[in-house]
Amino acid sequence: MSGTYLGLPSFPEAAHASTKDTQLRANLTHATHTIRTKRATAINELPDWPQLRTAGAAIKDHTLHHLDHYLQQLETAVTNAGGTVHWATDADEANRITTHIIQTTGETEVVKVKSMATQETGLNEALHTAGIHAYETDLAELIVQLAHDKPSHILVPAIHKNRTEIRDIFHHEMTHWGRPAPDHLTDNPTDLAEAARLHLREKFLRTKIAISGANFMIAETGTLVVVESEGNGRMCLTLPDTLISIVGIEKTIPTFQDLEVFLQTLPRSSTAERMNPYTTMWTGTTTHDGPKNFHLILLDNGRTDTLADTTGRQALRCIRCSACLNVCPVYERAGGHAYGSPYPGPIGAILTPQLRGTTTPLDASLPYASTLCGACYDVCPVAIDIPEILVHLRERVAEQGEGHRAERAAMRAATWLLDHPAALSAVERAASATRGLHPARLPLPGPAKAWSDARDLPEVAAEPFRAGWKKARGAGSAPRKDKDTPR
Ligand code: SF4
Repeated sequence: MSGTYLGLPSFPEAAHASTKDTQLRANLTHATHTIRTKRATAINELPDWPQLRTAGAAIKDHTLHHLDHYLQQLETAVTNAGGTVHWATDADEANRITTHIIQTTGETEVVKVKSMATQETGLNEALHTAGIHAYETDLAELIVQLAHDKPSHILVPAIHKNRTEIRDIFHHEMTHWGRPAPDHLTDNPTDLAEAARLHLREKFLRTKIAISGANFMIAETGTLVVVESEGNGRMCLTLPDTLISIVGIEKTIPTFQDLEVFLQTLPRSSTAERMNPYTTMWTGTTTHDGPKNFHLILLDNGRTDTLADTTGRQALRCIRCSACLNVCPVYERAGGHAYGSPYPGPIGAILTPQLRGTTTPLDASLPYASTLCGACYDVCPVAIDIPEILVHLRERVAEQGEGHRAERAAMRAATWLLDHPAALSAVERAASATRGLHPARLPLPGPAKAWSDARDLPEVAAEPFRAGWKKARGAGSAPRKDKDTPR
């Protein structure tokens, strides 16, 4: 098992280690640059891309504004179509419901198609504890699972692995999970895909329960939609007897027609395809076709708290395309694991601290995992103003104080000084008078030493600004009546 995300180090600590991994950086640079170039070409083909972007944001905002209504409509539609809807307040509840459904069937194995929500809840670990084996079937998720690793990218969870590493993982690990890799497996992509196909095929044909996520849930019809490239998702969604879909409540959209926007923006933004190879939709259950039992678990897990924040709620528009990761200079260097959650990169830096709160050093550090360059906002197909939310969350972290006491003390001192002009003037005069004695650098203690060692102190002017200003304006100008100025 790869383990949960609990107890991981803060972003700076994790990034400090990952940025030294030259293989990781080479893999990431190659992959992100390739995807971002292709994406730009795919987007430029559409003259109405700005309008699609605005429409996508508007649909999501409208849905989020009326989420209570649309969720009830969705529940009714799914139920009328033969499905069963469950509501999970948090990760534990979602995992409990899922485990219970599986246990009532007597099965001990499940196949999974990529579901970020189940990574968020730690479902595989919970199932393992209950004696149930979960097999990932998305190719990249399979690689991550076989490697006892964690995903490092939303769309390409194994982006940090190259072909040779993947060949070695298949070679050593497949045999412990089922059908072994063929002898003399090469690192040719076709051979690797064939090895995965053979390994997974026996699981698809044997396993009676599947667990999925969904890209969209349509409230008016109760239809769920999964968008993918490999076809493994379709195998999961159609072959087993029982299908359990665990989906965040923000994936709801009102009508079938709303899909027309997202089915144009999502493939182009994610894989740079005009249309993704497999779009699977299902509505409840159908006699003689597909799973006989369908359970939909609607996951909150911090989403309604996020919705209550008028600035932060934009993050719930996200359609998980991963375009923001592929253009982020911080993600490219630090890699996905440093973000300590299933949501890496810029979207992770704004979503995770809202879903989990900012009480741990890791979650409190995430809003700072950005240069605020704004490249993420430029590419986002639903126009999430990620830099705005980052600054908003930094304010929240600074207000809560823990871990930033020195910064808060410095800000309090600066506030007092700027609020007392006489004191400020005295400090300026003293600084000018002693300028010859100032060191070139001011070595700070502790972790701040690395920062201060790399920076020269700015040179203090021979004459304070206000004294020079007074001279320039002439001796006759009247002094300002500040509250610290004698009347
Ligand atoms: S924040 Fe925007 S760009 Fe990033 S994954 Fe979500 S939809 Fe895509």
